[in-house]
Amino acid sequence: MAQPFLFTEVTTDAVSAARAGLFTTPHGVLQTPLFMPVGTQATVKTLSPAELDESGAEIILANSYHLHLRPGDELIRRAGGLHRFTNWQKALLTDSGGFQVFSLRDISKIGENGVAFQSHIDGSKHLFSPESAIAMQRNLGADIIMMFDECPPADAPESAIVKAVERTLRWAQRCVAEFERLPALYGNPQALFGIVQGGTHAALRERCAAELIKLDLPGYAIGGCAVGESTPELYRIAGLTAACLPRSKPRYLMGVGKPHNILECIERGIDLFDCVLPTRNARNGSAYSWQGKINIRNACHTEDFNRPLDPACACYACKNFSRAYLRHLYMAGEILGIRMLTLHTVYFYMELTRTARKHIIAGTFTEWKKEALARMSAPAEKSDGPDEEALAPSGHETEALEEECGEATTPV
Ligand SMILES: [Zn+2]
Repeated sequence: MAQPFLFTEVTTDAVSAARAGLFTTPHGVLQTPLFMPVGTQATVKTLSPAELDESGAEIILANSYHLHLRPGDELIRRAGGLHRFTNWQKALLTDSGGFQVFSLRDISKIGENGVAFQSHIDGSKHLFSPESAIAMQRNLGADIIMMFDECPPADAPESAIVKAVERTLRWAQRCVAEFERLPALYGNPQALFGIVQGGTHAALRERCAAELIKLDLPGYAIGGCAVGESTPELYRIAGLTAACLPRSKPRYLMGVGKPHNILECIERGIDLFDCVLPTRNARNGSAYSWQGKINIRNACHTEDFNRPLDPACACYACKNFSRAYLRHLYMAGEILGIRMLTLHTVYFYMELTRTARKHIIAGTFTEWKKEALARMSAPAEKSDGPDEEALAPSGHETEALEEECGEATTPV
């Protein structure tokens, strides 16, 4: 295997910050820019590892918060780690659990040592700290693991964001110390990524990035985005923070986003994305596609016997089923309907970043992006209602805190 966690910039776009890269992990080389499907409970809901693989997924995410509470990261350690437990052979990333515990504001207590909170499952008491976040993620054994950071809401006063940045930097030191103290468990090295905080304040973002860069980490994430700021603010912060980060390391924008957000942020120099929205939307009957967003519940699909979800898509669902059949499955509450919408969505997102990469390498990214965005924003169907796209996406996984796993899979 090539040197693990080496990032190579293959091509940089001549007229924007977009770049195509390669990032080596013990479970495959990631071709960036790249979307990472979210598998909160160590599964991308409804899809098997084989289906994910066929969809082109190269790396999936799992959430430490959820897995710590159930079935327990210690149990996953006894199972031989997440790769062995799930039989997913490609790369994995785990978050630190920080975002979830910070969103439990009513039942959590934040201090210098960490965050004390109560489980959303049984009310049991837990403490997440920089040290416990690293220990959990050593047990889980993902290729890429994340630091424990403080993520304040977008509307927090500047003084609170200054404090969060300072604490994030102190916690980063503790994360690195614990990461160096605890060995990797399953024979493969892990990469610890830093997380840049700083809200919508350029100077704070710059300071946080500069301090984290001193730790010489194998990759850097931009946190605290898609937490309620406007879309122009999201783009501004993604762009200015990406510009502060070294060219020799991958840049990961956490929790973003919708297809147009991803293309805009690729243009601003982001390499890695994750977002829970596309697969969650699919389970609620709406699918992103090259033709825009399609709501399969809409009556206009009832007798659409000859057209797939997206004629430009080569996924199994689009090659085999009409919109009319998918609508029937969904309206009847059939599991296959949710599975096919999810399968299509993951395939489309993988194709989106794959195609962007191809155009970056060919030197045609900007023209292609413009054309793709125009196509995706044209009305794909007669809509039964307005679609709110004005705010930045909240694409972070807080699902279990809001709706637990039996979430809205029944037709409205
Ligand atoms: Zn498809």
